[in-house]
Amino acid sequence: MGQDLLGYVLGGLDAAEHEAVEQKLANDPELRGKLATLRERLELFRDDDYEPPAGLAARTCDFVERHRATTAAASRLGVDAPSGRSSWRLIDWVVAVSVVAAAILVAIPLVYTQRNEARLLACENNLREFGVAMLSYAKHHRDHFPGPPAAGNRAAAGIVVPILIDGGYLQDQRLVICPSSELAAQRDWSVPSLAEIDGAGADILHSLQERMGGSNSYHIGYIVNGEHQTPIDLRRPQYALVTCTPESRLRGQQSSHHRCGGQNVLFEDMHTEFVVGCTAGECQDDIFCNRNGEVAVGLDVNDAVLAPSPTRPFQVQPVKLQSK
Ligand SMILES: [Zn+2]
Repeated sequence: MGQDLLGYVLGGLDAAEHEAVEQKLANDPELRGKLATLRERLELFRDDDYEPPAGLAARTCDFVERHRATTAAASRLGVDAPSGRSSWRLIDWVVAVSVVAAAILVAIPLVYTQRNEARLLACENNLREFGVAMLSYAKHHRDHFPGPPAAGNRAAAGIVVPILIDGGYLQDQRLVICPSSELAAQRDWSVPSLAEIDGAGADILHSLQERMGGSNSYHIGYIVNGEHQTPIDLRRPQYALVTCTPESRLRGQQSSHHRCGGQNVLFEDMHTEFVVGCTAGECQDDIFCNRNGEVAVGLDVNDAVLAPSPTRPFQVQPVKLQSK
């Protein structure tokens, strides 16, 4: 927890970790005390007016040189270095501790940044591999990608995943979990089978639909000549198929994945892109809403709508539109 608390103060945690720390803080007064102390101590090192004592560098070098010479001489004579009263003065200790603390302050955000970058890359690779499964399915289904039907137990965005797994197109179900999502920490998560979904009663159907798509959002099709269709593979570079889900999008907020208001998106031509905000491609299509601003099927073949796993294609959910 200590490391996460430090990451929390330094703003280095991703959304899921940040929320976990906030929850612990809300329930643990002792932890809140530790947080206050940590903030106080870190402020000392952030003080721009802090000036090291005069002659500090020279004294430190001098000390190191003397210590090195003594140790070398003692080792030549085969005796231990002199023990007893340390030749370090208080100011030397203050400097040493300050140097270590400053190094930690520099190193920890760097470690978190590198970890976030690694997760972003892993997320992108997952989407690419998922794209291979989608493409393979389309090749065997007259170029149509898998997607939810208009009605029935399968009518939810995440059905794409059980369809691909049951058909043998997708082997690794964890490819549909963004490493920065809350689901990434849940080891017991698994995709329900199509048989389970088809046979589910109303009492458990929603929980299966919520689970089946992992942490991603999937296209929910579009209307052509009055008919609901899953996208046909036209290799469109601006038509979005899958994205690592910003769950918060439905609450009218920016995506919190990857810490910069963006998400990785897989497009129909199988390229992936980190998209900040909600619009993608030259046509600036909002990938989370149709042209009416609803989380519901696209209104034409180029109107891509990506929605979290349990979203039904025809269940209109008005959301607050973001400024473009
Ligand atoms: Zn992601």
